[in-house]
Amino acid sequence: MKKRGRQTISMEGIPVEVTFKAIKNMYLRVVPPLGEIRISAPRGTPMETVRQFALSKRQWILRKRLSQAEEIPASPFRYMDGVGCTLWGREYHLRTEEGAGKEGVELDGSDLIVHALPGAPEGQKKEILHRWRKEQLFRAVELLLSRWEPRMGLKVASVSLRQMKTRWGSCTPSKRTIRLNTALASVPEELLEYVLVHEMAHIHQPNHSPLFWSIVGEHLPGWRNSRKRLRAYSPEKA
Ligand SMILES: [Zn+2]
Repeated sequence: MKKRGRQTISMEGIPVEVTFKAIKNMYLRVVPPLGEIRISAPRGTPMETVRQFALSKRQWILRKRLSQAEEIPASPFRYMDGVGCTLWGREYHLRTEEGAGKEGVELDGSDLIVHALPGAPEGQKKEILHRWRKEQLFRAVELLLSRWEPRMGLKVASVSLRQMKTRWGSCTPSKRTIRLNTALASVPEELLEYVLVHEMAHIHQPNHSPLFWSIVGEHLPGWRNSRKRLRAYSPEKA
């Protein structure tokens, strides 16, 4: 199969997508959550060399695919009184208070109270909560941007907050736009900071090359630990 510099080979029955680019070294990625295997290779690399490279990484690929399979997110959040709701890494109990004229969210000790109109359907309460969490996240991101833009010597054109099933964030380097998962309101703020700095670093370096990680490491020396801790949270639980 061939489409514009891209070819698919088979490694013991597992498809491997190979892209030829103007790069110096070969890279291999296992893409979550399905564990697709992608290889970027320098233009002109013989297919046999690519195949040998994939085979040499076989053990690593299998291990990676296995660990990613365990990371497939849990079922999405269901609004219900008494259910746990995580905000900035802290667990709250969801409680609804119905009353006329007042919509919004309030934190009271370990309770997260959603104020809704009398008889409001579940979907509406969920929406109030979702909007509020998005506002909290937006404010936190604004603050972080004001800190990190000058440090990293770049300007982000826009940050949009979206519900995403499998990713915490993404970046379009050419447009300097970043998308963040609204579920980031659940994680401790330093993990949000890691995701944002990671996506900002993509503006300098679009791939996950060693150079990319050295940029992240220069700004956040503890990034490995943050990345590991992030796995305790589900990107689908917005
Ligand atoms: Zn990345």
